[in-house]
Amino acid sequence: MKRMTGAILPGNSTVELKTFDIPTPGYGEVLVKMKSSTICGSDIRCIYHEHLGKGPEGYQPGMIAGHEPCGQIVEIGQGCRRFREGDRVIIYHISGCGLCNDCRRGYMISCTSEQYRRAYGWQRDGGMAEYLLAEEKDLVLLPDELSYSDGAQVACGFGTVYEGLEKIGICGNDTVLITGLGPVGLATAMLAKAMGADRIVGIEAIDERIRIAEKLKLFDAVLKAGADNVQQVRTMTGGMGAEKTVDCSANDKARLTCIQAARKWGKIVFLGEGGTCSFQPSPDIIHDQKTIYGSWVTNIWRMEELVERIVRWGIRPEDLITHRFPLEKADEAYALMAGGKCGKVAVVFDEELR
Ligand SMILES: [Zn+2]
Ligand SMILES: [Zn+2]
Repeated sequence: MKRMTGAILPGNSTVELKTFDIPTPGYGEVLVKMKSSTICGSDIRCIYHEHLGKGPEGYQPGMIAGHEPCGQIVEIGQGCRRFREGDRVIIYHISGCGLCNDCRRGYMISCTSEQYRRAYGWQRDGGMAEYLLAEEKDLVLLPDELSYSDGAQVACGFGTVYEGLEKIGICGNDTVLITGLGPVGLATAMLAKAMGADRIVGIEAIDERIRIAEKLKLFDAVLKAGADNVQQVRTMTGGMGAEKTVDCSANDKARLTCIQAARKWGKIVFLGEGGTCSFQPSPDIIHDQKTIYGSWVTNIWRMEELVERIVRWGIRPEDLITHRFPLEKADEAYALMAGGKCGKVAVVFDEELR
């Protein structure tokens, strides 16, 4: 049996490298040589510092981490019907039962089967290893035009953002306000711009992230988080407010800014996870006819649609990556991401090491 290195998260703000058997694909499964595995905010929030999550967010101790995996198929199990050896693939990061109503809609994230729902990097081994065992039904073909690091980000972050933006509907009429300019906020700006938004305004508290956002040139204005944010956005929009607002921060005040800085009939979507939000229903939403959406990950057909459109739009998710690490330095990668003074952080292999 051949062996490989994989990273696990013990839950005390460290990363442990361990040796595992390289799995053999069974019926309907493939073995993927990992090429890029990006770190998601939820890895930090629910696993890295301590094992917080329950149910679908419960990390099984000892599992190989990483739920934004992208790589190349090197071995095919029996019964595979579409994918072949050599295919470049994104792994939709939750393997569902395939038969419940949520799975039939493509939302394996919400699979109701306690027995069969297993998220990569949470309840089954994920992408922070040299190889990953995946089910064929969880794969999305990565177009030739995109790199593995483009694809890794679609596996969770960009997919999640695209779903949220489709819910509120982005068009050329819109000023889009984005609160929280970590990787999800930056992805929101990149996609909203590609979808035709007229003007994009960001709000962020951490100076390093403000600088990264400005450097990427995805925003028309980047504001420092503060008490006068609602007024600033109103001033920029002729007193009206933004048509669409997106919270990627999970911060109580930022969420309130998203609600109050939206104009009458405006649409608000919450993507950032955890925390609370306090607002006054009548003045903040009811009287101004506003709608608040919640959005969790995406479905697999929309992920396929997204990779097609990313190519058509000519955008590159990998442009949001500010730091790349080899697997041996996964501890540095997670520590950097936990500090928040970065864009997207990736653990990369082979040709993605640059
Ligand atoms: Zn994620
Ligand atoms: Zn299911």
